[in-house]
Amino acid sequence: MLRVYALSCGSLEFDRSLFFPAEAPGTPLVAPVSSYLVVHPKGKLVFDTGISCDAQIDPAGRLGKRVASLFAIRSGAGEDVVSQLAAIGIRPDDIRYVVNSHFHFDHCGCNASFPRAEFLVQRAELAIARAERNRYNAKDWDHALDYREVDGEHDVFGDGSVVLLPTPGHTPGHQSLWIRAGDRQFVLTADACYTREHLERTILPSNTYDAAQMTLSFTMLRDLRERRGVELLYGHDAAQWSALPHAPRPLI
Ligand SMILES: [Zn+2]
Ligand SMILES: [Zn+2]
Repeated sequence: MLRVYALSCGSLEFDRSLFFPAEAPGTPLVAPVSSYLVVHPKGKLVFDTGISCDAQIDPAGRLGKRVASLFAIRSGAGEDVVSQLAAIGIRPDDIRYVVNSHFHFDHCGCNASFPRAEFLVQRAELAIARAERNRYNAKDWDHALDYREVDGEHDVFGDGSVVLLPTPGHTPGHQSLWIRAGDRQFVLTADACYTREHLERTILPSNTYDAAQMTLSFTMLRDLRERRGVELLYGHDAAQWSALPHAPRPLI
């Protein structure tokens, strides 16, 4: 049986129009940043690593001026993936796999804290991150880490309980995590879908890489929810996040 924990990695404050492009700029939005820990009999897996702790001290230096001007970090003490794991007695070296949904700064900022893990990332995401011109920050992801390229769906432990699910559109190689635990199923969508409202109203955020692909990913997620009874845990949904049990309490 799996155990899953929702790890609080702080919050970001930014203009609502980044999430909801039809709205006029000028209204702030505070969105949670999350990681998840999956404890499987064959190993522990972390899904996304949140924002770098260095970015709290020197946002422009760590994130770059453009990103730091758009996003203010609102994280308290202990709201980072390593501290959250420590609170349940787990060290970074205990983690066998790290899955990055994609390489935006709020999903891979603490990758360097897991030098012994195997990183599972979609081939398309690594390809664009390694391309000369892109908007990713090498300080987040480009370390001497064991990156494994995954192409499409991938059953991590070979028993169908934890499956990487490609959900491109937000970025070229975005992936979500499908978890089957007993009679419950979850998909951790990450930025394939920021909030429930985005899915309900098919709202594509302003930083969408490929609108057609993102719309298809929305359709797949909706289908999983409606036909397969899968619970969707959205990437940055403040209302949903506040209603979830957070580590050290297990989600399941
Ligand atoms: Zn993103
Ligand atoms: Zn994000």
